[in-house]
Amino acid sequence: MIARTTADYERMALMHTVACCEPAFWAGYDRPSAQAFYDYFTHITTFEPTRAAQYLIKHYCYICMNPKEAENVALAREVISFIPEFLAKPNAIGIGEIGTNKNTRNEMTIFEEQVDLAVKLDQLIWIHTPHLHDKRKGTAMMLDALKTRNDIKPEKVCFDHAEEHTIAMIRDAGFWASMTIYPVTKNSPPRVVDTLERFGTDHMLVDASGDWGPSDPGTLHQAVFEMRRRGYDDATVEGVFFHNPRRFLSQCPKVAIDA
Ligand SMILES: [Zn+2]
Repeated sequence: MIARTTADYERMALMHTVACCEPAFWAGYDRPSAQAFYDYFTHITTFEPTRAAQYLIKHYCYICMNPKEAENVALAREVISFIPEFLAKPNAIGIGEIGTNKNTRNEMTIFEEQVDLAVKLDQLIWIHTPHLHDKRKGTAMMLDALKTRNDIKPEKVCFDHAEEHTIAMIRDAGFWASMTIYPVTKNSPPRVVDTLERFGTDHMLVDASGDWGPSDPGTLHQAVFEMRRRGYDDATVEGVFFHNPRRFLSQCPKVAIDA
């Protein structure tokens, strides 16, 4: 949670959060060199897990070249060259968030090269789907790229920032779909619960934005409360917010979350 304050970890602890997963993403500015990514990966594999541990929260991360900076293919390839070094760290559990931002050819090239690496190293894959009007197109482009390969294990792949118009195509292809809650823009807690009611909870995850814009890990707990207020029993609520993520993440042998 490099973009968030220690106070967010403290609040998560008070809300009984047991673990969090941080995808490698944009730093709020385009980094000038591969060395800047090396420093960033060092930070999220060393300092963040110790910061979270002070609040009894297990911190896991994904490593990758994010979609927003993947347009620079030469820089991206330099970064990809040292991703395996960081995937060897105890809290690094997969490759992500890879994907597209503006659905360009360069972004797709770097997406596919990182999928190759994930397959080669048998890693979980966490995929960023573009926002707003680019979302459906970008999701379809990446699904098409993955569906043509026979070396992908869909169970180990999750498409993030899924919305009502992309969930069916993701799950029909056998992948996990995750919805991201934002406190101000995009997906709200009640809308996420509405969507769960419409699509069911199988292969569905929910996460909270934790970026440089308005973000609040407490929105997950607002969604938990919203489900309980609508009369869902504990087993259903825990299925979505604990057992589903635990099932997806536990495919990585480094993840140890007690049931
Ligand atoms: Zn994302």
